[in-house]
Amino acid sequence: MHPNENRVGAVARMSVKTEVFIGLGSNLGDPIGQIQTAIDSLSEALEGLTRAHLYRSKPLGPQDQPDFINTAVQGFTHLSPESLLSLCQQIEAEQGRIRTQHWGPRTVDLDILYYGAHNIRTDVLVIPHPEIMHRSFVTRPLLDLMPQGLMPTGDHIDANRYDFSELIRIDHHKD
Ligand code: ADP
Ligand code: MG
Repeated sequence: MHPNENRVGAVARMSVKTEVFIGLGSNLGDPIGQIQTAIDSLSEALEGLTRAHLYRSKPLGPQDQPDFINTAVQGFTHLSPESLLSLCQQIEAEQGRIRTQHWGPRTVDLDILYYGAHNIRTDVLVIPHPEIMHRSFVTRPLLDLMPQGLMPTGDHIDANRYDFSELIRIDHHKD
């Protein structure tokens, strides 16, 4: 037996990566730039990060606020769900998210949509994110990433159930 076998085995288990999907939204002060910056920060924690297209849409709730830009990213992470949430909240804070009203303007909002096949429900975390299937600005970018709509939990996003006509696809400034 190799003397390091146990230790190596333990390291191998700890290094297991989980496929995650994170939704991003912004409607304050250069929303596209806000989203690019947030994705750059996320790329430090997500290996093989793949990004969906950007989509512009009218805000939910109060209409006296700028249009939203939304997208989603997929990647593989060593972070636990709680650590990933902390990272998302750190990115939101760094970018000066302003929370004035529910569904109001925000510089950037990061939601963990899926964390592998896990179903998580704690005081601070609900995964899969409960609103995914109700929001075309979430399902549309997820379909960019997973064209068959088959998500890691086995959830199926049926493209035919959505009206994507109010989403305007825009290109990233850079890749
Ligand atoms: P929303 O994203 O629904 O518009 P907020 O971003 O203001 O609302 O909600 C932030 C809170 O949501 C955080 O305090 C966080 O603990 C909680 N939360 C629960 N589930 C998730 C998730 N899957 N991803 C991100 N935040 C989550
Ligand atoms: Mg959020």
